[in-house]
Amino acid sequence: MNPREFEYHAPHSLDEAFSLLGKYGDESKILAGGQSLIPLMKSRIFSMPHIIDIGKIEGLRNIEINKSGARIGSLVTISDLESEREIAELFPAIHDAASQIADPLIRNAGTIGGNIAHGDPGNDLPAVLVTLGAVFVLRRSGGERTADASKFFIDTLETDVHHGEILTEIVIPRPGKKTASAYLKAKKSAGDFSIAGISTCISMEKDGSIGSIRMALTSSGPKVIEVTGLEEICKGKKDYNSIAEKVSVAAVSSAKPSDDFYGTVQYKKKVIGILAKDCLKLAMERAEKR
Ligand SMILES: Cc1cc2nc3c(=O)[nH]c(=O)nc-3n(C[C@H](O)[C@H](O)[C@H](O)COP(=O)(O)OP(=O)(O)OC[C@H]3O[C@@H](n4cnc5c(N)ncnc54)[C@H](O)[C@@H]3O)c2cc1C
Repeated sequence: MNPREFEYHAPHSLDEAFSLLGKYGDESKILAGGQSLIPLMKSRIFSMPHIIDIGKIEGLRNIEINKSGARIGSLVTISDLESEREIAELFPAIHDAASQIADPLIRNAGTIGGNIAHGDPGNDLPAVLVTLGAVFVLRRSGGERTADASKFFIDTLETDVHHGEILTEIVIPRPGKKTASAYLKAKKSAGDFSIAGISTCISMEKDGSIGSIRMALTSSGPKVIEVTGLEEICKGKKDYNSIAEKVSVAAVSSAKPSDDFYGTVQYKKKVIGILAKDCLKLAMERAEKR
């Protein structure tokens, strides 16, 4: 099917984009890589009279790594994230997730900003950015604000992007020593969305015990879900075997999956429990080596 008729706009600057967003208001929608929006438009699930393609705007495709961490422009593609060596070293969970998103064609066009702003609970990067403590920069005509990743995802296909705003940057704090992350995803076949996915970020103390831990789940509810109760289970513990089962139970208790094409609730909970143990192990091993 073809999309319903729309007018296409391709601004070359943020100011031009804000002016178009102001002019067309609720009758306009931002387009980035188009890998989520275009399929919805083609199936006519979604239509909008004015489409504002931000892909030609300069300055949103940089990855800057400095002493404080990383600043990633919202138009950085998933392929660029996947191939950036320093990202893989500092934030291995980003590399793990990016390299498992869809297929190379989609990764070449899809952007980090679109993956986040779309609010699809099956998208892989939201869980990773929640566990890494990322902050999103949102600009509008004449101003900007920041939003914590942990509060940004409101519901299915609903995020904290107000009309007239453009997500311009993703800011991730530099991990301290003995801090590492990991992302694991179970899927039916290569290139598929996940049955479930899990991101973990762990910081170890000097004595080898866990100082802090965050976990978040993909495809396990209406939006990305952060696992609760982990500090009580893990803080001060050194031995994986003594905490693995409890962490697995915490992840399953936090999840709110539903029956669908990818599996039953019962099956998904089993998958989440196993992924939680495996991801904990991988993140602990990586943190010990850093
Ligand atoms: C077959 C298929 C398989 C896929 N598999 C996976 C998968 O396994 N894992 C996964 O994570 N993703 C998957 N995806 C989704 C894909 O990775 C995302 O759609 C893509 O990353 C979204 O980015 P985009 O630039 O294409 O966004 P677009 O499609 O252009 O936009 C998506 C939404 O975000 C909004 N938006 C985009 N950029 C901004 C911005 N800077 N500021 C404000 N709003 C913005 C748009 O208005 C729109 O609502 C798959 C997609 C397809 C088609």
